[in-house]
Amino acid sequence: MLYIETEGESFERGHVVGKSAAGIFARMVEDYKNIFSKEGWDWDMVRARVQKYLPHCSSMSAYGELRGMASGSGISEDDLFVLNCAEEVFDMKSCTSIAKKTEGGVLLGHNEDWYASDETHVIVIGARRRGEPCFLSATCGAFLASVGLTDSLAQGVNSVSPKDIREGIPRVFVSRAVLDANTPHEAIGLATMGNRAGGYNHLIATSDTIFSVETSATRHDILYGSQAHTNHYLSEKMRAIEKEHSESSKRRYEGASILLKEARSVEDFKNILSDHTHGICNHGREEKTVFSCIADIGKATLHVCEGNPCEGKWREFSLREHG
Ligand SMILES: [Zn+2]
Repeated sequence: MLYIETEGESFERGHVVGKSAAGIFARMVEDYKNIFSKEGWDWDMVRARVQKYLPHCSSMSAYGELRGMASGSGISEDDLFVLNCAEEVFDMKSCTSIAKKTEGGVLLGHNEDWYASDETHVIVIGARRRGEPCFLSATCGAFLASVGLTDSLAQGVNSVSPKDIREGIPRVFVSRAVLDANTPHEAIGLATMGNRAGGYNHLIATSDTIFSVETSATRHDILYGSQAHTNHYLSEKMRAIEKEHSESSKRRYEGASILLKEARSVEDFKNILSDHTHGICNHGREEKTVFSCIADIGKATLHVCEGNPCEGKWREFSLREHG
């Protein structure tokens, strides 16, 4: 996996990511053209379709990063915007996250289940920023950073399926913004910013608290304590506007919740994320676990595995060394 260090303002940081990962971005655009065409959609048609989201996010700092990524990679802003609106186009139901307060500190783990073609596009970004938290984030190439560890918190993100989707700020821009939070209160404020196009579950952990912010476009609810989260709402208030949820999501949630009770260490988290009994480690042909990560908040480290976690290709990154 490619590790990229960045610093400075949003455009500058994006430019470095784009320059370092230009080949990955180009391959992703070709892969997603194929993915869309299997659905009978032409790339230009999708590019036109997502333009309606642009006025809702173009003044955000995250869009400054995207502009920098375009300038550094030579891939157009429009093409990168299509990729970052993938969840406004496709209804994905993927990813498992777990977080627990252990004797050694708070741990947060995440399996990123996504299109199999992105397994070889995993990058880790280490960002130094003036006046904002430093972060380490694992992502698939051209997608804005959102899963990872900052010097204030760790975040795992899960797709959900609300009925109230609308034109507004694309989900990835919301989850990206949460990495800018300095406190749990700020993280909740950013995860629930107005004018959201859809919703996610944001599983957030700090050195002394764990909570999920379940969101849709117009509603949210918060659940506190050590927990697992997959792709269905756990809050009754949110379930009332859920479109559907999958058997896989329930199975992964139940399995991860049981396994989490005995988990005490990063190694135990690796084992949960590698579980096949409940399908947490996903080996699907089209959609699979493309990377896993575990944030150890006390030690300020992020363990990242490219591909299925059961295959054990883990690397450890340190926020302190980086910062
Ligand atoms: Zn596996």
